[in-house]
Amino acid sequence: MMAGRLAERTALITGGGGGIGRAAALAFAAEGARVVVVDSNATAGTATVRAVEAAGGTAAFTVADVTSSASVAAMVRFAEERYGALHVLFNNAGIFPDADGSVVDTDEAVFDQVIAVNLKGVFLGCKYGVPALLRAGGGAIINTASFVAVMGSATSQSAYTASKGGVLALTREIAVEYARQGIRANALCPGPVNTPLLAPLLADPAARERRMVHIPMGRLAEAREVAAAALFLASDDSSFVNGATFLVDGGITAAYVTPLG
Ligand code: NAD
Repeated sequence: MMAGRLAERTALITGGGGGIGRAAALAFAAEGARVVVVDSNATAGTATVRAVEAAGGTAAFTVADVTSSASVAAMVRFAEERYGALHVLFNNAGIFPDADGSVVDTDEAVFDQVIAVNLKGVFLGCKYGVPALLRAGGGAIINTASFVAVMGSATSQSAYTASKGGVLALTREIAVEYARQGIRANALCPGPVNTPLLAPLLADPAARERRMVHIPMGRLAEAREVAAAALFLASDDSSFVNGATFLVDGGITAAYVTPLG
């Protein structure tokens, strides 16, 4: 038996092939969790499993598209069949397409796609994940929102912002409804993180500077710093943290930059 803050627990991570998801898989496994890595990209998800195993941890991959009810039901079933029970559900998969802009410019199809992955994906994860957590006698849900769930962006990304606001509100509702049945649910709200999701946006030095000025710490988060917060929310260290808007944003939401400098 591996010791650690998540010893003897099974944690499922959607988007486990990506930046934050992979860092979380490594962090959870290092604390003794059996990790179910879920991603629509099998190559990326399998690479995460290999990285966890190379570090001495336990993980398995299953492919799923979080927008599909059948697919999400199957990923939860996979976790229970492989490891016996599900204790931690990290709904982390998300997209941030370039074509997402102002409400006027964003195509309806882009809006629908972003809501399908970022919001409906979390809904489905909880729809099938909550019964599994209840079967395990309780557990922890971490839903990835963003700091943009609590503030407007001048560089608009309307669908993304709306989806993350939805995740935040949905998470509170779950937190309230299931608390007495032993489930805690929290919304993880990262600031900008150094992952592939943001890379295209920050390739241009001017665009990078325009964003950096708003981050009191003057840098992006690293994926492992967000994973450390997810680990806290997944473990008993956060046993009285429920329904939180858990900001990991380097102080962005605490800051006000006047237009006049
Ligand atoms: P990423 O692009 O590195 O990883 C996302 C992963 O999700 C990818 O592996 C992708 O294949 C997977 N995915 C996409 N659509 C899917 C689907 N339909 N079904 C299953 N898997 C799917 O992104 P990341 O930066 O690690 O972001 C993870 C989460 O954190 C997202 O919800 C994102 O919105 C959120 N977030 C990111 C930042 C940031 O700056 N990177 C900031 C705040 C919030």
